[in-house]
Amino acid sequence: MGGPFPENPITVSFELFPPKTERGIDNLGRTVAQLASAGPQYFSVTYGAGGTTRDRTARVVDMVRRHTGLPVAHHLTCVGASRAEIDAQAQRLWESGVRKIVALRGDLPEGQTLAPDGYHDAAELVAGLRRVADFDIAVAAYPEVHPEAASAQSDLDHLKRKLDAGASRAITQYVFDTDKILRFIDRARAAGIEAPIVPGIMPVANFASLKRFSEGCGASIPDWMEAMFGGLDDAPDMRAMVAASLASVQCRHLAAEGVTDFHIYTLNKPDVSLSVCRALGVPARISAEEAA
Ligand code: FAD
Repeated sequence: MGGPFPENPITVSFELFPPKTERGIDNLGRTVAQLASAGPQYFSVTYGAGGTTRDRTARVVDMVRRHTGLPVAHHLTCVGASRAEIDAQAQRLWESGVRKIVALRGDLPEGQTLAPDGYHDAAELVAGLRRVADFDIAVAAYPEVHPEAASAQSDLDHLKRKLDAGASRAITQYVFDTDKILRFIDRARAAGIEAPIVPGIMPVANFASLKRFSEGCGASIPDWMEAMFGGLDDAPDMRAMVAASLASVQCRHLAAEGVTDFHIYTLNKPDVSLSVCRALGVPARISAEEAA
């Protein structure tokens, strides 16, 4: 495309979460139309561990598919459910037209233990889903190492097991230190992982809650982000500009190293994600206004 854009074309997918209220689900339609204007490869919709969003996730997946005609991946976690329940749910999803799944173990709510007759980790879940139907399956990867991992190597071995069980790609947890993503991809390749590893990109929406959330999931927040976002709590416009700039610089850095496919955690907010796409030359199909 030339100009200021990365040399190789960039492709994106957009992650959404199912809103809690009917009104939220209605409003999401507009967000989805705006995001669809950037021509993502697909959308994905998260799923509350333990099935807390089962109906809402399925409804949002269906709504996004009908509104956009684009593929939609249904996240599915296996904690708190038996194998038979998960298999039956997967069968229903397949029958309703779902072809893509992001297969996750999920986190147990406090005080609960894994169901003895359930899938115990995401590798077992992937194998189970493959037995149900020919889903296209993505799994999670952790460049900064999952908090429960015994070591970085055992974490990587587990990722390989998930892919060997039948997943076709991995999406990473968000990481702000881009070199860590590149080193992780190198280590994965050296370990014989050939599947695409798609960086998850988190445009910062609320810095305080991002810091809280990151503590729980093992994602580190570099000190320089404090300098970038500190004091912007009450300056949403400037914060959005800084967030879009940071995310597009990260994608550019990765693109310069040959990584051109990104999964954007939109947090159901279209503006920053769309700004990132614009800055990367992701070709808009129609204007965001037209789509709205
Ligand atoms: P697993 O990969 O099964 O396990 C997590 C880690 O534990 C592994 O990385 C490994 O280090 C260790 N481990 C587990 N089993 C073994 C084993 N048998 N041997 C050795 N090590 C093992 N959560 C939700 O609730 N809903 C969502 O929609 C959702 N979407 C996500 C999307 C992405 C892209 C990412 C990165 C995360 C998402 N999560 C979601 C969060 C995820 O559920 C948590 O990170 C959870 O703690 C682990 O799930 P997993 O699928 O990575 O589990």
